[in-house]
Amino acid sequence: MVETSDPSRQCDEAPQAVPPRDEASGAGAAELPYPAPQPDEVTRPFWDACARRELCFQECAGCGHRWLPPSVLCPRCWGADTRWTPACGEGTVFSFAVYHRAYHPAFRSRLPYVVAVIELGEGPRLLSNVVGMAPAEVRVDMPVRLEFQDEGGVTLPVFRPVGMSVSRPDGPPVSQPGEGGG
Ligand SMILES: [Zn+2]
Repeated sequence: MVETSDPSRQCDEAPQAVPPRDEASGAGAAELPYPAPQPDEVTRPFWDACARRELCFQECAGCGHRWLPPSVLCPRCWGADTRWTPACGEGTVFSFAVYHRAYHPAFRSRLPYVVAVIELGEGPRLLSNVVGMAPAEVRVDMPVRLEFQDEGGVTLPVFRPVGMSVSRPDGPPVSQPGEGGG
C-alpha cells in the first residue's frame, strides 16, 4: 500500500456502508464471499477500534475539528496533529436511502436494506446501516444508537433506532447487532 499525502484522495479509503444481514432468518450468511473492508494505514485505527467494539472519529489538536472518514490531515485546517476519540454511540439519521437492488451478489438476500448517513452526537458523520426496523419506517432525524456486527472477518458499526416502537416485516426484533460500514 502506498501512503499518499494528498488529502483529496483520502475519501477513496473511507469506510463504506454494507447492507445489514437478515437478522430474522439468517439468510445470506453462508453462501457467498462477503466483500469485507480492506484497512490500510489511514483507516486501520478505525477498524481496529471497531474490533474492540468502539467507534472512533478523528479530532484535530490544532482547530478542534472532528471528522470521519479517516484522513491523514485535518480536512479543515490541514493540520497533521490528529487523535482518535471514541464516540458515545448516540446519533441521528442525517440522510438515508433504501436499496432495492443488490450491487454485490452477497447482498441479494438482504433486500431491501437501508444505507444511511449517521450524524454522531459529537458531530462527525459516517455512512452506515440502520437495522432492526422496516426500511419504510426509517426517517430523517430519527435517533439511533450504535451497535456492532461481525461479518466477513471484520466488526462493522451499524445503528438501531431508539425511543420508538420498532418492528420488522420479516420477524420480531432481535438483540443481535446489525451491520454496516463497508
Ligand atoms: Zn484542524
